[in-house]
Amino acid sequence: MIKLNIPTITSIEAFDACLSGIVSTDMKQNYMDTQHDILSAYDVYEAKANQLKLYEIPFIKQLKNEDIVVGDLSKGDFKHLYNYYMVKRPVGRKIYDKLMIESGGRCPYCGISETYNLDHYLPKSKYPIYSVLPINLIPSCRDCNTGKLAGHSRKAKKQTLHPYFEDECFYLDNWIDADITGYKPLTLSFFVRVPDEWSDINKARAKQHFKDFNLNTKYSLRASDELTTVWDQRNNFFDGLPDDFKKQLQSNIVESLSVNHWKIVVYKTLVEDDLLYDRLRC
Ligand SMILES: [Zn+2]
Repeated sequence: MIKLNIPTITSIEAFDACLSGIVSTDMKQNYMDTQHDILSAYDVYEAKANQLKLYEIPFIKQLKNEDIVVGDLSKGDFKHLYNYYMVKRPVGRKIYDKLMIESGGRCPYCGISETYNLDHYLPKSKYPIYSVLPINLIPSCRDCNTGKLAGHSRKAKKQTLHPYFEDECFYLDNWIDADITGYKPLTLSFFVRVPDEWSDINKARAKQHFKDFNLNTKYSLRASDELTTVWDQRNNFFDGLPDDFKKQLQSNIVESLSVNHWKIVVYKTLVEDDLLYDRLRC
């Protein structure tokens, strides 16, 4: 997981950029007429996001494309504002690309894969009014965007982490751990071990995020690839004593990586296993 800085693009900049691509003066006027209501909704989003209470924003169930959201604008109009005027038209696309670039290129949900497109934290199917709001647009990898196991929830404990607003504890405290599940070949399984002092809501949210983004599978696959190298080089490791072996493993713990980075978790788990030296050797 990676915490992102709030986008430098303001909501008004993004909204105006998308509107600039609309050729129909009537349609553009529809957006202009409701701009005040749209910007008020944006303010509500920002306030709730800062309080980590986005789950309190209501939505209309089973909203159809033709259903009106605000003024004369339908759900379909807001989806089109994103799908066409932000994604495909030149001025809107500059905003899209800037949001992608500002993220640093690494998916904040999983922390491992390259960003591929923008994910709507509050999905545009349920919250179309936020379709082009920059702070609702999370640059993410293809897997995390399309492979989310669960959709948006209106329960506090089921909210996945919001990379722009999230509590620092998710990035500073260690809450992802692993067990060695096999020695030949060397394999690991990841799980959530939340600090006792965390609130019940944060404890539940960590587990939800881990599950929704399928992080055990993603991290286990990365670890498996990494551990193949450890396995292949094991004979070099056994030139020395068990302590030398541990030092060799420890040298892979790069301090610049975050405490929950899969690679840090892998090598910490290996270093902490006192039987590893003997088990790999025999
Ligand atoms: Zn991802």
